[in-house]
Amino acid sequence: MNRNQVLPQVELSSEPSALKRVDFCAPQSYKGAGFLGIPDMPRVAEEASTINPSDGFDWSVQTHFEDSPGSDPHQVLDLGLNGRLNLICQRCLQDCAVDLDEKRRFILVLTDEEADAYPIEDEELEPLVVNQYFNLLETIEDEILLSLPLIPKHPDGFCEPHASNFGDESAEEATNERENPFNILKNMKKN
Ligand SMILES: [Zn+2]
Repeated sequence: MNRNQVLPQVELSSEPSALKRVDFCAPQSYKGAGFLGIPDMPRVAEEASTINPSDGFDWSVQTHFEDSPGSDPHQVLDLGLNGRLNLICQRCLQDCAVDLDEKRRFILVLTDEEADAYPIEDEELEPLVVNQYFNLLETIEDEILLSLPLIPKHPDGFCEPHASNFGDESAEEATNERENPFNILKNMKKN
């Protein structure tokens, strides 16, 4: 018998506060979607250089049960994140919008021991230790923080290095691209 057809599917509230307490021990699956502004996620807000009202992340969550031979069916959680925040560009030191479009799949477990039983290299099945009062908002924050680029930058050619970035290769490139001052002088004389 397929558990998913027997157990109720509960709609998750899109309220950020409701995500702080989700009962993953209940015999039910979840489905929901919503939008989280940057201020709803204090740790993400700390990373943001500027917070525009439209910055934030659309999220979607869906769980289902999967049979596993020899043990109880496992609950699998699919998380989707799509949105934008502003970080400091490491080339020009100005705000730089970073877009993320992430999908994650977790297998829900109840103990650290159970989580340890999953091979580390199996990225498809990342174990997530949950409980009756699970803070799903923290997991969403964690995944956004883990997805941020280590060195945020505007696309090549979109910005000039900040004067303090001496020694940076890209700084030299940009200098070469700038018009040679002698050419400017020559043109002035012609006129
Ligand atoms: Zn830049």
